[in-house]
Amino acid sequence: MDNVSFYSLTLGHLKDHFLQNNVKPFHAQTVFTEIYKKLNFNFQKSDFDTPLITDALGVFDFSLPKIVREQNAKDGTTKFLLEMKDGLKVETVLIPFHKRFTVCLSSQVGCAMNCSFCYTGTQGLKRNLLAQEIIGQYLVAWQWLIQNRPEKSVCPNIVFMGQGEPLHNFDEVKKAIDIMLTTEGLHLGPRQITLSTAGYLPGIERLNEMARVNIALSLHSPTNSVRNELIPLNRSYNIETVLNALGKIPLLKRQFVNFEYLLIKDLNNSSEDAVKLATLLQGKKAIVNLIPFNEFPDSPYKRPSVESIDRFKLILEENGIPTTVRTTKGDDILAACGQLKVLDEITQAKKLRDEKNKNNL
Ligand code: SF4
Repeated sequence: MDNVSFYSLTLGHLKDHFLQNNVKPFHAQTVFTEIYKKLNFNFQKSDFDTPLITDALGVFDFSLPKIVREQNAKDGTTKFLLEMKDGLKVETVLIPFHKRFTVCLSSQVGCAMNCSFCYTGTQGLKRNLLAQEIIGQYLVAWQWLIQNRPEKSVCPNIVFMGQGEPLHNFDEVKKAIDIMLTTEGLHLGPRQITLSTAGYLPGIERLNEMARVNIALSLHSPTNSVRNELIPLNRSYNIETVLNALGKIPLLKRQFVNFEYLLIKDLNNSSEDAVKLATLLQGKKAIVNLIPFNEFPDSPYKRPSVESIDRFKLILEENGIPTTVRTTKGDDILAACGQLKVLDEITQAKKLRDEKNKNNL
């Protein structure tokens, strides 16, 4: 049987384990600091190298996901294809933002939500990631940053916007976040973490069990009929139901809910849509992030013109809704929002299609 992963342990778990092995529990804090703050995985060579501690730690597996591919975009974005122990792969992206990087983490292998604009959605759900695999992605990306971009290697912020619907894997994502927030460990602040959801109501209703991280809702349309097309999950939990549930989450004083809005030409980018969106969000602590659609091979949707993006933004702002336009990062390596998918499979699918087309000629 495989050893238990060290990264699946909370500080409390490690203390209990030490107690059972006659090690003073305060040593657990030293170990957490060594691993998570100093990224020192070679603990045999550290101050706490005593036979009792090393024996107690010897039962754990310290291995991290393997980088099997690394792609660097012109704008400084780096996308990793990471292999888990069972051979399944997910993508993790490091995105430069001003003075520090943000890591975009995956929460599942594939995704069950089947959003029509998303590469990942076409893959279906293979399995949930475990807390240690979520933390593993972070540690691998941070280690890479320290080695390759030392000038900007301060511990990166986190967005759960990679593969998967994080609230569909609530327990493991919550556990990973709890470990990431541990003061003696990574010591991230809840506001350094953003959870993005397509509107998975059973998860939204459990958000009060979690630390007050930032929440982002992928809204993409103020109209249920259009949102049904973009996010099939909307047929189960429509806009009003999801907004009502989000409204019940207590927000901190200067905390907002981020509403992600993918702008797609001739589908959801009219002035009428902007007015409807402003009406929908009136009186809410909301920020809208407009994301001009990134076309990918065979994508059914198109990117709107710069003028129509500006017009949409202006209407929202005139109606008192703070709005930003997200500059897409990593376009040239398909690292932008909704574009993560194991590229081998894309290439495979394209090959099959091309062969089919050839045979039909
Ligand atoms: S956009 Fe997010 S929720 Fe929708 S299919 Fe893609 S990964 Fe899943």
